[in-house]
Amino acid sequence: MPINFEIPEFIQQQTQMVKWMAETTMRPFSRQLDENEHERPTVFVEQMWPILRDQQKATLDKLRQQTEATNGGNGEKKSKRGGTRMLGLMLQIEMLSWGDVGIYLCLPTPALGGAAIEAVGTTEQKLRLLQRFAEGDKPVWGAMAITEPSAGSDNSAMATTAHFDEETNEWIINGQKIFITSGKLALEESNGLCIVWATVNKHAGRAGIKSFVVEAGTPGVSIGKVEHKHGIRASDTAAIFFHNARIPADNILGSGEVQASRDNKGFQGAMATFDASRPMVAASALGVGRAALEFVKEKLAENGVEIPYGLPYHKLTAIQRDVLEMEAQMKAAHLLTLRAVSMVDEGLSNPMEASMCKLKAGRASAFVAQKAVEILGMMGYSREWLAEKWMRDAKIAQIYEGTDQINTLIIARRLLGYSRHELA
Ligand SMILES: Cc1cc2nc3c(=O)[nH]c(=O)nc-3n(C[C@H](O)[C@H](O)[C@H](O)COP(=O)(O)OP(=O)(O)OC[C@H]3O[C@@H](n4cnc5c(N)ncnc54)[C@H](O)[C@@H]3O)c2cc1C
Repeated sequence: MPINFEIPEFIQQQTQMVKWMAETTMRPFSRQLDENEHERPTVFVEQMWPILRDQQKATLDKLRQQTEATNGGNGEKKSKRGGTRMLGLMLQIEMLSWGDVGIYLCLPTPALGGAAIEAVGTTEQKLRLLQRFAEGDKPVWGAMAITEPSAGSDNSAMATTAHFDEETNEWIINGQKIFITSGKLALEESNGLCIVWATVNKHAGRAGIKSFVVEAGTPGVSIGKVEHKHGIRASDTAAIFFHNARIPADNILGSGEVQASRDNKGFQGAMATFDASRPMVAASALGVGRAALEFVKEKLAENGVEIPYGLPYHKLTAIQRDVLEMEAQMKAAHLLTLRAVSMVDEGLSNPMEASMCKLKAGRASAFVAQKAVEILGMMGYSREWLAEKWMRDAKIAQIYEGTDQINTLIIARRLLGYSRHELA
């Protein structure tokens, strides 16, 4: 598969524009929103909503046109290959996270919920469910709820259930989800939605797990504890309870079959969400690492320390070696992320590449942010500068959307050709 390392001109311009926005509308609020956890970045959200809403509208209009062209039978079925949508998204997310990753996570978008709908939903579901993100004056959020108190990395332990009520033609969901990003924003503070993973047959293990769309205002859905966190403190992270929450039959994503098949297909479909979402987490991690690296270089330059390129290793000082190592780690992570997103844009399957870039970018970002604090000495540790905050913010990319250990397992299985049972 050819990879073009040249970023198209219009994406470069878009990225510069996003960087300017991040610099002027996010950075000035970084410390305030970190110190005052649970305060909302209201001004930023209000500024961003019309832009994001119109972007979403354009995406849905395009999908509608493509569908009509295909259904009209005029042979204009568009190929999924060769776009630059994910590439553009990757670079925008990197820049927004460079601005502030916690605030970026507060953007009113379908977020992970959207990734799930795009990966598994039918065209009808995409058009119907994502429409709320493309209209109206009030911002709307999306979320995805997988994690439970006893089911984190191990999805097969999932206890949230979905039963089909044939009389009312509804799914009934019962259970509890925890640590859900934008859970409160999506289900309580806006007319949003949350993709909820639940089992339709506990005895079927992963094959019984399906994803369901729960919309704001559904009776039986309530928000529980809102977390106090180490990093990304501007981001909303909430528990969600489901008590006989009834949702329409066609709010199951993908196959509407009622009985869980034992072939794992439903679960594999739900897992396809990660093929697009893990590279986006990688992009976000890259943004945090980039912020820390640029800041360190700036401070070193102010103190007369330049980073020479092309000198033999033994001619470098320890700090110069550190900075070059930080740059190398970031570059490697960037290239892996480019590969994973270019595969999505090419319409290719990329589960291994998605895990690889997320693993590498999470590690690189945490390493770089920690090194930055180290190099900057006591001021690195002080709350006067943002370096210590970036160090706290960086860690999350090694935890959510699959921990480092889980992504390592996925990569190893794919490389070695082992099944989940052979390499656990
Ligand atoms: C701020 C934040 C936001 C989040 N947002 C969301 C969200 O929006 N939606 C959502 O569904 N979840 C979300 N999560 C939950 C997150 O996805 C889980 O924390 C993660 O999947 C790990 O699960 P766990 O915490 O239960 O850890 P566990 O699964 O209990 O793992 C504990 C440790 O054991 C390791 N481990 C587990 N199994 C293995 C294995 N087989 N081999 C080797 N090591 C293993 C893990 O890597 C980890 O280091 C969020 C979490 C946080 C902190």
